[in-house]
Amino acid sequence: MRKMWISSRQVAGNKLPLKALDPATEEVIGEFAWGGLKEADEAVIAAKEAFTSWRRTPASERAAMLHEVARKMRANLDELAVELTLETGRSIRKNRGYVEWSAQCFDYYAELGRHYRGRLIPSPESSQLSIILKVPIGVVAAIVPWNYPLLLLTWKLAPALAAGNTVVIKPATNTSWVTLGLAQYFEHFPPGVINILTGSGGEVGDYLVTHPDVRMIAFTGSTEVGQHIMRQAANDMKHIHLELGGKDPLIVCADADLNAAAHAAIWGGFLNAGQVCTSIERVYVEEEAYSELLDSIVQLTRNLVIGPGMNPESEVTPMIRPGEREKVDDQVRMASASGANILTGGRVPPNLQKGFFYEPTVLSEVREDMLVMQEETFGPVLPVVSVKNFAEAMSRSNSSKYGLGATLFTSDARKVKYYMETIEAGNVWVNDPLIDNLAGPFGGMKRSGIGRELGMEGLEEFLETKHVHWEIEGGKKNWWYPWE
Ligand code: NAP
Ligand code: MG
Repeated sequence: MRKMWISSRQVAGNKLPLKALDPATEEVIGEFAWGGLKEADEAVIAAKEAFTSWRRTPASERAAMLHEVARKMRANLDELAVELTLETGRSIRKNRGYVEWSAQCFDYYAELGRHYRGRLIPSPESSQLSIILKVPIGVVAAIVPWNYPLLLLTWKLAPALAAGNTVVIKPATNTSWVTLGLAQYFEHFPPGVINILTGSGGEVGDYLVTHPDVRMIAFTGSTEVGQHIMRQAANDMKHIHLELGGKDPLIVCADADLNAAAHAAIWGGFLNAGQVCTSIERVYVEEEAYSELLDSIVQLTRNLVIGPGMNPESEVTPMIRPGEREKVDDQVRMASASGANILTGGRVPPNLQKGFFYEPTVLSEVREDMLVMQEETFGPVLPVVSVKNFAEAMSRSNSSKYGLGATLFTSDARKVKYYMETIEAGNVWVNDPLIDNLAGPFGGMKRSGIGRELGMEGLEEFLETKHVHWEIEGGKKNWWYPWE
């Protein structure tokens, strides 16, 4: 059984261990301890005590410890990728990439943390210095979802530590086993700097959010829980960083490379069985290109290999749990009942009754008022819509309450300029969806969140700002009438 990892010592939870499940086989892959409020308190106290010295640890020493995490992850890349695949269902090939990418993120913030402490600005008094000093915030609660348990944790943990904060990690229930296994990569840190606390979101998650000694909540998850956290954090005016849901649109113009656009649509729509916050969930196509693009999308979708993540050939892997699959199927059924066509998919694959698989699904004849066009689906479903022109595609794209990611396929530079300036999304892709670059910011607008991860912005999130006014030459003699 995996125990909780608090303050560099393992503790058993106060309840019976929970079972970790493989979504591809429905088999139990391990057990882990389940924490409650007592463990949550221990974790926060450990993090608070560790903060006193961690905030004063030279940045170069902190950097060396972050690089060491990257080194250990790379040394263990295959084993970690297998564990990630077992608990999330994701493709093993993808998970190897995610481990390497997480290691790169630790390396990146190790160096960025050594290069930034604020700035000096001209003071109105020649005898004074004006110093903009950046300091760590304190204890950070990092609350993460199950879809990318390592990567999304890393995007918080690496910058938070580099900035001098201490962290209590609260993984999703569905991916607690693999997260507790990460303790081995953090053993070289001083006790209390990193703590992994399992337990239910509604209980320990809520407790962390309202705990007076937790100064910041860095959260990735659903918009609903994000809104709840924001309300809860208001009492103590905590720092919040929220990465939430999305309903990302793809616009395909008739002047685009339609073959590339079709491949992009199925990649962006069905990667990780559509369980990506920046999955493509709506496709708007200019009417001249509609039937050609739709035919290619349907053909490509039918050829996708559905199977377990441990098979390197699998392209569409299982969903996380039957409940999530049902939610997706409900949206498809409701759309179909109100007139949408299911061109392919829309069911559990007949040859894969074990495991939580769902066939990649393409819908046509959808209307904007259907749930599948309004709410996040978080599953392998692509509604493809014909629009008169680029202007209509833009206004439909921006009509969503979400604003996480958005993609445009075109060869017209004027459309690209207009698009990048007016599309309401934090992550904008032109002719290549979902690519990432950890040296630049990632995040959402509107109900998709507040704040940015990665890049310089991702470090700033974990820093508090002070403006220091320092009189060096002895000060004024008369503050009431300084001009005399
Ligand atoms: P979720 O239900 O919101 O859960 C996310 C995390 O919050 C889990 O660790 C959960 O713990 C915890 N939690 C639940 N209730 C809580 C509460 N009252 N107080 C504090 N913490 C609480 O999301 P999910 O179902 O795991 O993940 C899917 C969602 O994440 C989707 O909406 C997706 O779009 C979003 N997401 C966004 C991004 C992004 O970068 N914008 C990236 C990935 C995913 P339990 O597991 O124990 O409930
Ligand atoms: Mg949930």
